[in-house]
Amino acid sequence: MRARSPFRPEFKVIKLMFLRMKSSLGKAKGRKTVARCDLLEGFKSLVPEELVKSGKRLESLVEDESGFALRFKDGTIAEADVVIGCDGVHSIIRKHLLGADHPAVEPKCHDGWEWIGRNVPAEEVREFNPDLLTYVPILCGHGAYMNAIPTHLGKMLSVTVIQSSKQSRLANATMDESVRGDKTELFAEKDFAHWTKDARDILTLALGNSTLNWRLADHDHAPFHSCGNVCMIGDAAHATMPFNGQRAAQSIEDAAMLTALFEHVTELAQVEKAFAVYDELRRPRTQKVVELSREFGRMYAFFDEEVRDDLDEMKKRLGDGGKYTNEVDLVWMKTEAVRLLEKDVEIIRETS
Ligand SMILES: Cc1cc2nc3c(=O)[nH]c(=O)nc-3n(C[C@H](O)[C@H](O)[C@H](O)COP(=O)(O)OP(=O)(O)OC[C@H]3O[C@@H](n4cnc5c(N)ncnc54)[C@H](O)[C@@H]3O)c2cc1C
Repeated sequence: MRARSPFRPEFKVIKLMFLRMKSSLGKAKGRKTVARCDLLEGFKSLVPEELVKSGKRLESLVEDESGFALRFKDGTIAEADVVIGCDGVHSIIRKHLLGADHPAVEPKCHDGWEWIGRNVPAEEVREFNPDLLTYVPILCGHGAYMNAIPTHLGKMLSVTVIQSSKQSRLANATMDESVRGDKTELFAEKDFAHWTKDARDILTLALGNSTLNWRLADHDHAPFHSCGNVCMIGDAAHATMPFNGQRAAQSIEDAAMLTALFEHVTELAQVEKAFAVYDELRRPRTQKVVELSREFGRMYAFFDEEVRDDLDEMKKRLGDGGKYTNEVDLVWMKTEAVRLLEKDVEIIRETS
């Protein structure tokens, strides 16, 4: 596992995946969705099999002057010069980087969000309420919101209901509950009786599998996303609430920048600089996206103190937030990353 420009294959993955993947379009202007299984298939088909080892569970990472030793649950140890932690929201690499006791290590749920959802066959939706197949709604209300998004080229409808225990009668009940379990009681249809028909129908569809549920969580800001030759990306670095649909997008942006940087890394000694540039440029953006997502959620459920149920103000703020995430100039960001790296490498050359 000694790293030699490990990013080149992934770069191809990112570029080509968008050409190949089967995506389905929502009815809303500009909204495009892709089912996770299709996205992962797209990635998987482009990664050379010999580069992937599955079935491994990392337990710890030890660092000394010769590099890293990664200890896995099956007792095996792998050695590496460079470690990129993309091991998700409960990341071991995050714990290693920040220190096990750091307050930002564990994901948190500041607003007590509970989520239920289900992928419903379009046929079932058509018989139940065909209107739900004609638009892509986000339905907001006091303490909760819901949405319905077509996936699998319109063959499925992904329905989601999210409510905040902080604002509702569930305050004590939900915070003590385990993450999984039957949430039928917590998402009682009678509590949504005053919502529109479509909203009530979305709830009914979501409750069709009431055990598919999560307590949502995100990360408080980490003070750094890299140190030396270790870095973390994606959910490991900045798990984000789902309210602005940016969680996976930011992971892909991270990978794109590392790819650009590592195309210019020619020696192991430059890796630390490359990671420092990645941290400098990516961390502020990803942490802002975490904050925006929290704000979106609070607005959707009408408990943002400044917005409440002022829909015009909400629309404006959602628009501004959307611009921040969507109108980013990634080409500039990658070019700037490479410029900063080359500047640092030049300084190292001159001083050595
Ligand atoms: C229900 C749901 C719906 C979502 N919908 C959206 C959406 O619509 N849009 C969006 O942008 N994002 C969405 N997300 C978020 C998105 O899935 C994540 O942001 C994205 O998967 C993060 O990618 P990642 O590679 O950083 O982490 P993950 O996808 O979590 O991958 C981490 C990988 O590391 C592995 N791993 C973890 N620990 C270890 C270990 N100790 N040793 C070895 N391997 C380990 C895991 O098995 C996993 O394969 C959703 C998430 C969920 C749960």
